[in-house]
Amino acid sequence: MRSIVVHYKELALKGRNRPWFVQILVQNLKNALKGIGVPRVRSVMGRIEIDLAPEASFEAARERIRHVFGIANFSLAGRAPHDFQALADAILADLADIEVPTFRVSARRADKRIPFTSPQIEREVGGLIKQAKGWKVDLDDAALTIHLEMLPDHAFYFFGKIPGAGGLPSGTSGRLTCLVSGGIDSPVAAYRMMRRGCTVSFVHFHSYPILSRASQEKVREIVTLLTQYQQHARVAMVAFGELQQQVVLAVPPQYRVVIYRRLMLRIAEQLARKWKSRALVTGEAVGQVASQTLENMTVIAEACSLEILRPLVGMDKDEISDQAEAIGSLTISNIPDQDCCTLFMPRHPATRARLADVLRAEAALPIAEMVAGAVAAATIEEFSYPVPRA
Ligand code: ATP
Ligand code: MG
Repeated sequence: MRSIVVHYKELALKGRNRPWFVQILVQNLKNALKGIGVPRVRSVMGRIEIDLAPEASFEAARERIRHVFGIANFSLAGRAPHDFQALADAILADLADIEVPTFRVSARRADKRIPFTSPQIEREVGGLIKQAKGWKVDLDDAALTIHLEMLPDHAFYFFGKIPGAGGLPSGTSGRLTCLVSGGIDSPVAAYRMMRRGCTVSFVHFHSYPILSRASQEKVREIVTLLTQYQQHARVAMVAFGELQQQVVLAVPPQYRVVIYRRLMLRIAEQLARKWKSRALVTGEAVGQVASQTLENMTVIAEACSLEILRPLVGMDKDEISDQAEAIGSLTISNIPDQDCCTLFMPRHPATRARLADVLRAEAALPIAEMVAGAVAAATIEEFSYPVPRA
């Protein structure tokens, strides 16, 4: 079995855009499978076929494919001619000494011009396998399902389906910029938007050298993990400590957190516009912490004129943590660090900041200058998967 058959689902709904989606998915698979012996990836009648070179490992390919969005499921598959006996022989050779109590054959005709119906194909091929193996046929609850897909020039057969990453192919939904901390939420927020086909760039605010470098290290690990889904990502590391000190000197304690966040958004907005992002992404969820009230969220958002997407806005912390665990970011997020927002954190931040008060407090600060300085001093880091971009 030297092929992989990839099925997509949601794509099928995209009407006239469908060929474009499939083309991007094929290209993403090609990029993801570089360097492991994959000579060809091509779309054939509603599915994608991947050829494996004789030396290529399916396990290596599986790991790469697992991170490609837009896939419903995929399978290691064999190819055989349309002839029933040849098909059964190939299947029997690959089943080797596998023994199961019951089986069924499930056939689909990708090419409807094939002169047999699917039930006919199932009966014929199933009969030959039953004869050779002595297994019972069970149509409802078989221990083994042998899938057949009839294409114009040949048939594919495979024995199971591995769930794909779902979502839409990376690069089909435009660019975003995510504010990523070392916390649990923002990596999940970025993942969810990537899964919708968006290409995500990152901005991280750190307070080095006032605090340690730990948050930057965590963000690098998180972005390395997430880059597996889009193959290339960039992060702007923004030094935020001095700006916070300026805020502390000029702003009453209860408004500081909101003003830090407004500064973050303004800086992120400038970077996002430079990167041609259509919107910002944050990991905010209503009511999760004292500062994330609806009132504060709107006062914070007022600082920026780009759209802000908050994919976690209605989620519970438990749900977010479960997803962080599933994508592998939770263990990174749980590494202790010092978040820049705990720096100079007042004991009682305003939970319902009023815009007028915040604007009055901000008037004491050279905002435009602070933002421009931070943007100019940001350092950009590039991440690639699986191989550095040429
Ligand atoms: P997270 O787990 O993502 O840090 P959180 O629940 O801790 O989220 P906050 O720390 O209040 O929430 O931050 C809300 C959002 O603001 C974060 O999800 C993130 O998008 C952004 N943010 C907060 N701190 C930073 C930072 N240091 N760098 C970049 N973005 C940040
Ligand atoms: Mg945080």
